[in-house]
Amino acid sequence: MSLGLDQTQLDRYSRHIILDDVGPEGQAQLLDASVLVVGAGGLGSPILQYLAAAGVGEIHVVDDDVVERSNLQRQTVHADADVGRPKVDSAAEFVAELSPDVTVETYEQRATAENIEGLIEGHDVVVDATDNFASRYLINDACALAGIPVSHGAVYRFEGQVTTFEQGEDSPCYRCLFPEAPPDGAAPDCATAGVLGVLPGTIGCFQATETIKLVLGHGESLDGRLLCYDAAEMDIERVPIRPSPDCPVCGETPRIDSVRDVRYDERCAVPE
Ligand SMILES: [Zn+2]
Repeated sequence: MSLGLDQTQLDRYSRHIILDDVGPEGQAQLLDASVLVVGAGGLGSPILQYLAAAGVGEIHVVDDDVVERSNLQRQTVHADADVGRPKVDSAAEFVAELSPDVTVETYEQRATAENIEGLIEGHDVVVDATDNFASRYLINDACALAGIPVSHGAVYRFEGQVTTFEQGEDSPCYRCLFPEAPPDGAAPDCATAGVLGVLPGTIGCFQATETIKLVLGHGESLDGRLLCYDAAEMDIERVPIRPSPDCPVCGETPRIDSVRDVRYDERCAVPE
């Protein structure tokens, strides 16, 4: 049974196809899948690499940055010759060179309250590979309202966090965990705090794994659990996250009906 897979694809994905829990059906699902990756940096690099290698048929990438030399210590889809180029361009070239099966669509823009609904529409999974609270809350709120599953990852110095929001009946969301962003300066970004270069590689690989499992409908996701990884101690812990009845976006009496209700600034505070 080849399910429309051609000979080249049967060869390319043969190690998936011999897995009982993937098979030709699962590979066909991957080739039919559409995933939005927001951020083509440290997390986005391994996510794009492994989603493309897995044969996710349609990958959309959003990023408004250009490649800087200081990115190359961890952002592995960009090369030294790409310094100064838009990140979406080098990311798309990397994917196109890796696999002719993948269609890449690029958006050289920042995700905002004005464009997020259009960006996420029609995707099976949205991957949050951003590095700032405004984008995280924006993606969370828009995807919770639209019912689109999200893979979330974040890195800080030697520590990383990853979870999945499936948007099911009993699923929590990012605001269940952190109703608002911490005060300015309480959680500095990579440029201020530094980050071990390989760390976003590890966390991004977890996100790619979760995304592929969601498409396949196989295994247990991190929905309702926050995986905390300490690279210095090589320690992994999974902390339960419960849906909050007071959550402003997915709780019993939500106060966010639209991303236009919120100002996505430092705090991403909920309107009164
Ligand atoms: Zn929530």
